[in-house]
Amino acid sequence: MDNCIFCKIVAKQIPAAVVYEDEDVLAFKDINPAAPVHLLVIPKRHVSTLSDCTEEHTALLGKMLALAPKLAKENGIDVKIGADGKPGGGFKTLINAGPDGGQEVYHLHLHMYGGPRPWRGLGL
Ligand code: 5GP
Ligand code: ZN
Repeated sequence: MDNCIFCKIVAKQIPAAVVYEDEDVLAFKDINPAAPVHLLVIPKRHVSTLSDCTEEHTALLGKMLALAPKLAKENGIDVKIGADGKPGGGFKTLINAGPDGGQEVYHLHLHMYGGPRPWRGLGL
């Protein structure tokens, strides 16, 4: 897709801090992080928005979300049970769709936010 910034990242035409890559998806650090850890998980093939997705995208969407726990562990934001038995750490996942959903880049992406709070407002 011409003029899509995330397609250019997939094509290595512009740099990104890539944390995971396989044949279907790419994950990299957000350039303007809203939390101590802020990752974006994207499909390599251009999909504009979650609003365009259908049943055909079920496997792709499942793969993107199923990647979150692995990325969370590798980036130190997974949920950890403390000595007191209570959960600590953790992360938030988010997909914005369309202007009212706060989407700015029209290449489907799953946000992962984590790390010690406070975090910058997410406009929710
Ligand atoms: P949206 O608002 O569309 O859900 O989120 C777009 C995200 O992409 C924003 O958090 C923004 O900081 C990030 N972003 C925009 N351009 C770039 C870029 O060139 N590189 C990286 N790594 N992140 C970008
Ligand atoms: Zn794209």
